[in-house]
Amino acid sequence: MLSYRHSFHAGNHADVLKHTVQSLIIEALKEKEKPFLYLDTHSGAGRYQLSSEHAEKTGEYLEGIARLWQRDDIPDALTSYLDAVRAFNRNGQLRYYPGSPLIARLLLRAQDKLHLTELHPSDYPLLRQEFQKDERARVLRDDGYQQLKAQLPPDSRRGLILIDPPYEMKTDYQDVVKGIQEGYKRFATGVYALWYPVVLRQQTKRMIRDLQETGIRRILQIELAVRPDSDQRGMTASGMIVINPPWKLEQQMRELLPWLHQALVPSGTGHTHLEWIVPE
Ligand code: SAM
Repeated sequence: MLSYRHSFHAGNHADVLKHTVQSLIIEALKEKEKPFLYLDTHSGAGRYQLSSEHAEKTGEYLEGIARLWQRDDIPDALTSYLDAVRAFNRNGQLRYYPGSPLIARLLLRAQDKLHLTELHPSDYPLLRQEFQKDERARVLRDDGYQQLKAQLPPDSRRGLILIDPPYEMKTDYQDVVKGIQEGYKRFATGVYALWYPVVLRQQTKRMIRDLQETGIRRILQIELAVRPDSDQRGMTASGMIVINPPWKLEQQMRELLPWLHQALVPSGTGHTHLEWIVPE
């Protein structure tokens, strides 16, 4: 079943959190000259037009990236992410939102590599077209979870693996854990960044417990909720689970999360949460 289209959700509060964390990890990896691999298992289409029928229908970006767009008090840690979004909106008007592969394309250096997979028959060609002229990138219409076996470890022995499934099938909650185990067996020093929604809190808790039971160490959880937990109101929060986070990430997000929450949720509902779910 492939009914999910990210174009309905691009630039929402969950994307803001996900892409902020993604950008900070990439910047940290760039502190060393040695190349690294950016592996995006569930890439999406790459670029999203915010005036499209899909984005207008939900208007989710209005409570996401649009809330940061006009601010003139942006914390330093958000610069890299917001500069990437600005690069797609050069005249200052917010019209396009770059997905995770395009943010990576912009932030990565000549020596780094991208490996991107997307299964959707409509989104895959769009993604492939975006990267036609980028020799650093391989774009495949393939199962993202398989890449965690097939592409790891990277030749460079350094990498960020972003795992961002739609969770439209309940099995995604188990598949992400199995996929991470497979990847980690082959490449234990990689940085793994897993996005998750909070729709039913019990589901998220179970996934976190499964991850804790894998025996993998150094797992940081970063969460931003826009509303209190509710089993009836769709996604109330989202988070990133980062294995082997760069050493600065915890402090950066500890400072950034309250600012992001206040900017994204002026009414103040919801919460932020940052915790080592498995320490060193
Ligand atoms: N990572 C993107 C971003 O941040 O811009 C958004 C990705 S979206 C949440 C999830 C994508 O995964 C959808 O485009 C969907 O078509 C795709 N997808 C679903 N199952 C997949 C699978 N098994 N392998 C690869 N892609 C898949």
